[in-house]
Amino acid sequence: MVQKRIYAFGGGKAEGNKDMKELLGGKGAGLAEMSNIGIPVPPGFTITTEVCTDYYRSGKRLPRGLDAEIRQALKRVGALTGKGLGDAKNPLLVSVRSGARVSMPGMMDTVLNLGLNDETVEALAARSGNPRFAWDSYRRFVAMFGDVVLGMKPERKEDRDPFEEILEHKKHARGVRFDSELPVEALRELVAEFKGEIQRRKGKAFPDDPFEQLLEAVAAVFRSWENDRAVAYRKMYGYPSDWGTAVTVQSMVFGNMGEDSGTGVAFTRNPATGDDEFYGEFLVNAQGEDVVAGTRTPQKIAELAARWPNIARQLEDVRRKLERHYRDMQDIEFTIEQGKLYVLQTRTGKRTGLAAVRIAVDLAADRLITKGEALQRIDPEALNHLLRPIFDADRKAAAVKEGRFLAKGLPAGPGAASGRLVFFANDAEAWRTRGETVVLARHETSPEDIRGMAAAEGFLTAFGGMTSHAALVARQMGKVAIVGCEALSFDYHARKMTVATEAGARTFSEGDSISIDGSTGEVLEGKLETRPSEVIQVLVEKSRDPADAPVYREFAEVMAWADDARRLKVRANADQPDQAAVSIAFGAQGIGLCRTEHMFFGEGKIGPMREMIVAETVEDRRAALAKLLPLQREDFRGIFLAMGPRPTTIRTLDPPLHEFLPQDEKGVASLAAATGKSVERIRARIEELHESNPMLGHRGCRLGISYPEITEMQARAIFEAACDAADQGVKVEPEVMIPLVGAKKELDDQAALVRQVADEVFRARGRKVKYLVGTMIEIPRGALTAAEIAKTAEFFSFGTNDLTQTTFGLSRDDTGPVLATYLQKDIWPGDPFVSIDRDGVGALMKIGVAGGRATNPGLKLGICGEHGGDPSSVAFCHEIGLDYVSCSPYRLPIARLAAAQAALRDRAAAPARPSKAAAKKVAARPGKAASSAKAAASAAAVRDGKRAKGRNGKVAAAAAVGIGAAIAGKSIAKATRRAAKALARRTR
Ligand code: ADP
Ligand code: MG
Ligand code: MG
Repeated sequence: MVQKRIYAFGGGKAEGNKDMKELLGGKGAGLAEMSNIGIPVPPGFTITTEVCTDYYRSGKRLPRGLDAEIRQALKRVGALTGKGLGDAKNPLLVSVRSGARVSMPGMMDTVLNLGLNDETVEALAARSGNPRFAWDSYRRFVAMFGDVVLGMKPERKEDRDPFEEILEHKKHARGVRFDSELPVEALRELVAEFKGEIQRRKGKAFPDDPFEQLLEAVAAVFRSWENDRAVAYRKMYGYPSDWGTAVTVQSMVFGNMGEDSGTGVAFTRNPATGDDEFYGEFLVNAQGEDVVAGTRTPQKIAELAARWPNIARQLEDVRRKLERHYRDMQDIEFTIEQGKLYVLQTRTGKRTGLAAVRIAVDLAADRLITKGEALQRIDPEALNHLLRPIFDADRKAAAVKEGRFLAKGLPAGPGAASGRLVFFANDAEAWRTRGETVVLARHETSPEDIRGMAAAEGFLTAFGGMTSHAALVARQMGKVAIVGCEALSFDYHARKMTVATEAGARTFSEGDSISIDGSTGEVLEGKLETRPSEVIQVLVEKSRDPADAPVYREFAEVMAWADDARRLKVRANADQPDQAAVSIAFGAQGIGLCRTEHMFFGEGKIGPMREMIVAETVEDRRAALAKLLPLQREDFRGIFLAMGPRPTTIRTLDPPLHEFLPQDEKGVASLAAATGKSVERIRARIEELHESNPMLGHRGCRLGISYPEITEMQARAIFEAACDAADQGVKVEPEVMIPLVGAKKELDDQAALVRQVADEVFRARGRKVKYLVGTMIEIPRGALTAAEIAKTAEFFSFGTNDLTQTTFGLSRDDTGPVLATYLQKDIWPGDPFVSIDRDGVGALMKIGVAGGRATNPGLKLGICGEHGGDPSSVAFCHEIGLDYVSCSPYRLPIARLAAAQAALRDRAAAPARPSKAAAKKVAARPGKAASSAKAAASAAAVRDGKRAKGRNGKVAAAAAVGIGAAIAGKSIAKATRRAAKALARRTR
């Protein structure tokens, strides 16, 4: 049987429905559904996306027999409307509309008013009693047909649309300003002139036969699937090119038939705030495309009731009905023809993060959707909107209008910041102390700038991408930031910044006011008022009562649902007590990464740190370390007290030592003075510490192995602080993490030292504190030898920033040019520093999980790279069975929601038929897949009645199979069963 190619709708029923988007496109499926549920829709039919694919497959020809089917379908429309295509008495006019399975707003083409020619236009004029309307529709149709079907585009980019040009001419000749002022006579002339231009440019006549018009328009809409805009849009969103578009042919209704007609677009709820209000705009006496064209200012939907109370009531019914039916906020198009309402489109409405949360909560409260569905509907990234300070939208628009827009960069830290320009981190601090609000603008930022960055309202850099230092710090601190704003250049000496704007170069001095919108990347001149978000006011500033914070309450509700649903725990990357407090406010269940190096830049610490580095003897080094010990202990104590009983992972010193040394003359001189060494000696030491590839150099555990006294001091500070906190009744749980381990012996060396210090401190203090020693898995060798390392390690934390750098062999700070080209050429699907590269880095992680759990089933597993706050990476961590993810404090809500979504997806997909005991365990505890490998292995061995001999041998065998599967990209659960079988065979 031939496939059904055309689906009719109208007259209260339809052949299609809302679940047929793939075949009918979103628009076609929506029109069918609305017809089925009794919403007034002008009748029509949809030609399927399969016909589109067919059209392309057969060299852009409509399939044979389609014309007969279209004629057939037109008859049914005729029967419902009493009109016929080309009928000289009562002509049917139709629109020919595009519609892919996902909405691609404005990317493809639509033709309106099709069916008009010199004969039918007279009939339309006579029946409507409105020749002006008839001829206006006709001239619009000829122009649209010329454009969409015949390709009458401007010839050069300086040219205007050819029909627009003729129209302008006409208006000028008639001495009028608006189209609507042209008399019928002029419209008649326009039609003739449009057709003449088509003949002149295309060498063929405008087709007068309505059926020919229709077939040509259908083919043209199919072709619009391949136009530049549509192709670019598909690329951007990763939609495959073989989906194709459906074509909907629909009888026209006219919003331009007079003062009792009109057209509009509306959202069933406010898409910016999520408020439960009908939100939209309409125009009286206008056709659909006029609302978007912006030639006339539309009225607010709320004003519709005053003009047409009856229509307003019907629209309200439609709104309720559609929402209840689709169980989500809808975006609709409607037209009123001489007092009668028609709905022309419905689709899921796009919304801001704020609105997404409110709508999900409201719909769940109304029991239209479950809590799980509500959680699934919110894009985790969108939660950012709820945390950031904001510009008042109207004021920003006004500022842009006043010409205050300067430049655009990458929106790295969402939110709004406004303040006085400073170019140096220490100025930011000094100005802040004076009570100024500042924006720090620089070529780029470095770890040394950290305190200045904390003092600034936001930062702006000329260089760097979304993973640059400035961007990373912005996320961690929740600061507003724009990076990579290439229009900026700096003269640090003159303390001036120049912006290359469209209107020429503009120069700004230190102290000038500037505003940055980190959600859009826009830089604006002057001050613009901002407001902190409600959530921040309640959670961080604690300046607002939750009772008086509706947005916060909804946020908290969604977070509570997410916490109920998720299996993964969440921790924060936090280095200071105040960050720890913020982390807890955002739901952190521990600290997953406390970087000790940031502490060394703090008050009074960099001096002794530098002394320690330039020390030439162990004694000198110990003397400097002795100065650092009490300062570090204080830092740790503060963090332990803030974290209470939650575990805190502290990483021992990681960056290469030269990062701490002064770069400038003044710094070198003062270090010389402080240490009593000559300037030459200091310079020589700096020279000595220079590395060609610091990222791959003397850093991580390599430092602690070379200078055990550093690890020793840090361990002492940790355990003394832990005892202090314990003395104060706080049940602390430090986890000491050794970075950059690639071999078991490295960890053995450092772990032994840490344990020895712990014993000493505990003995001296007469008390014990529970602690763990573990490692970061952040170089490939660490993952590959995880089974060995886990014999010493009590936990692993995947350091995916470094693991990505070392797996790709690419420095994160140098990705810029590579990334741009690779994304454009489709070599990488995305930035591997943003979302975990599952095939490469992810495979290593799986090996690490399998290996680690095989030798140490109780091994705690987490991630502390920036990926820990990326939704897709969080989902991956859930899938491979980690225990927790750790991320920047301000990304915790995102991680909580992403973890909940991963767990919900799991539950939805879980097949409820585990056959064997071992399989059951895997299903019940997906997180323990690898340790279940062991369970499965022993279960199999027991079944065989032959217990394998050496415990280690058995486990290693199972691990080996698990690792093999991990490399091959197979699921560990599946590998588990295979491991059990393989082992059974071997023990036999
Ligand atoms: P897009 O996908 O670009 O929105 P549409 O197919 O929805 O394109 O049509 C463009 C405009 O024309 C919309 O405002 C729509 O409401 C209007 N329109 C489409 N078909 C009809 C019709 N049969 N009668 C009246 N207006 C229509
Ligand atoms: Mg539309
Ligand atoms: Mg690292």
